[in-house]
Amino acid sequence: MGLLTEGTPLSWEETKKLASHVREHGIKQFINIYKKLKERKGDVLKWGDEIEYIIVKFEHEKQEAKVSLRAVEMLEVLNEAEIQNPNTVKFLWRPEFAAYMIEGTPGKPYGGTLAHFNVVESNMRNRREEASELLKENECLMTLTSFPRLGCPNFTVPPSQPTPNEGGTKSLFFPDAAVFPGHPRFMNLVRNIRKRRGEHVAINLPVFRDKNTKIPVDDSHRIRKAALPDCVYLDAMGFGMGCCCLQLTFQACNIDEARILYDQLTPLCPIMLAFSAASPIHRGFLTDIDCRWNIISGSVDCRTEEERGLKPLKENKFVIKKSRYDSIDSYLSPQGEKYNDIPILYNEEDYRKLRDNGIDHLLAQHIAHLFIRDTVSLFSEKINQNDEEDTDHFENIQSTNWQTMRFKPPPPHSTIGWRVEFRPCEVQVTDFENAAIVCFVVLLTRVILSYQLNFLIPISKVDENIQNAQKRNALKDQKFWFRKDITTDVSPPEANQCCKGTKCETTECDLIGLMTVNEIINGKQGEFPGLIPLINSYLNGMDVDADTHCTIQQYLKFIQKRASGEIHTTASFIRDFVTNHPNYKQDSVVSDEINYDLLTTLKDIEHGEKSCPELLGYSATSKTRENIPHALKNDF
Ligand code: GLU
Ligand code: MG
Repeated sequence: MGLLTEGTPLSWEETKKLASHVREHGIKQFINIYKKLKERKGDVLKWGDEIEYIIVKFEHEKQEAKVSLRAVEMLEVLNEAEIQNPNTVKFLWRPEFAAYMIEGTPGKPYGGTLAHFNVVESNMRNRREEASELLKENECLMTLTSFPRLGCPNFTVPPSQPTPNEGGTKSLFFPDAAVFPGHPRFMNLVRNIRKRRGEHVAINLPVFRDKNTKIPVDDSHRIRKAALPDCVYLDAMGFGMGCCCLQLTFQACNIDEARILYDQLTPLCPIMLAFSAASPIHRGFLTDIDCRWNIISGSVDCRTEEERGLKPLKENKFVIKKSRYDSIDSYLSPQGEKYNDIPILYNEEDYRKLRDNGIDHLLAQHIAHLFIRDTVSLFSEKINQNDEEDTDHFENIQSTNWQTMRFKPPPPHSTIGWRVEFRPCEVQVTDFENAAIVCFVVLLTRVILSYQLNFLIPISKVDENIQNAQKRNALKDQKFWFRKDITTDVSPPEANQCCKGTKCETTECDLIGLMTVNEIINGKQGEFPGLIPLINSYLNGMDVDADTHCTIQQYLKFIQKRASGEIHTTASFIRDFVTNHPNYKQDSVVSDEINYDLLTTLKDIEHGEKSCPELLGYSATSKTRENIPHALKNDF
């Protein structure tokens, strides 16, 4: 979830006083990084995935499933191996926001050979197994984007109670005990976000209105004025940051390529969010949304009333449109500049400093814009820093701007280059699905770079898409703004299908149009080539071993089927399961019993004990293997 600094957290009052200190030094630190590393070239493609897991405990005798608050205990053991052998461990394990979550990545990034696609799933599987060895009886490590009954009475093991009038969270539903206790960062963020905002965070999810759905859904609106009666009201950071996702990081060959990737992947974020939708149930209710995005956005929304435009500006400088967790506000590459069509706020002084130090307009405005956010977490040991060497103040702000994409400079004194992170995807139930999404997105980056494709659309349209992507059944029902002509002068003929097969001049056809996820991914005859056909034509020109070829084809087939609506998204599968459950009362309530049956089914699907063609398709198996055979060293 971000940088973990050791030390003693400062109180909110102390942290607040140091906001401009962090800003000043954070900007200086970025300038120093930039000066040292802007010319860095020749890095090779490396990439990796991050998966967040929930530890679930099944109580079979009661037919209940709960979250197990054992992340600290498990991480102590999991991290032991890394401490002993940092360079040879197969997986890296990190804490996440909740006491029931852990995060795992491959021990080393993958490289630039196609054969790496064939080890992703195996790595995910072994990763899950390594952590699963530490599970107690009836526990299971599940890749669930949201735990359906999070915040319901007794949803944790050991049992814990919310404390509305004391502690850090002060939630009606989410106990402090469910926040990861092994590092002070997490509770510190909870407290400081609430204090900065001046009240509880407030998320109101429209309930899914079924025949017998009760409105008001519960009594929340009687207790809290922020709660809307026809919505599922959530009042704690844990409801958002306690959700899990699948993220990807790419190393580019230099800063310019990183800026291109950052921009080109941005319009794909809403598409992949809709594609990976996996979280329709919150606090025990079916809702009218399928994704976690706005929930996390609201769960860390530290903007004051002034900043939210509810009061005239007095103490604060800006009315800010978005939370610090949201879709990005500006493109970074020269090609992207003309699509930056929403106002980008920043402190003139920060922007000037960056410009005066040789940083171009687009990058300067990006960094200055990140720094309109105050620090919400500061440790006493880290206040005074050597700006030539340290980067904590920069990272402090950078890593608490949780956006769809993240542009990452090389860490100091490391062999790592300029990177971008792709952050929208919800995590899927099985390793097969997660590996398929990872390989699809990585292949897209290769296609974008080698065919020099252009996916850019105005950033305001990306924002619209992000909102539409979260609606119930968005993959089937919504249309998304997408660029019709994705070719540039050097694109190959396959990409040139806009305007009935002739090379498209943007003056002759409208630049963008509304398309379904199916049309974007699978293509539309004579109008849009489709992402999968582009990947396939890219792969046709590549040498690849038979097993890897087979695995990639299985993944692409699965992506095609899900995009076309032939198989369910995780969210629509979950909805279907609930609404068809014999004990569902058509009242939008996901009871303990339905939750137990749902999670048992998802667990069995993940373990391969239950086949589920309606979610995975009929042939969801790959030839994944643990290692890349020695002979396969062909580069992309
Ligand atoms: N769990 C968060 C999500 O679902 C991401 C936290 C992180 O940045 O690692 O988006
Ligand atoms: Mg994480």
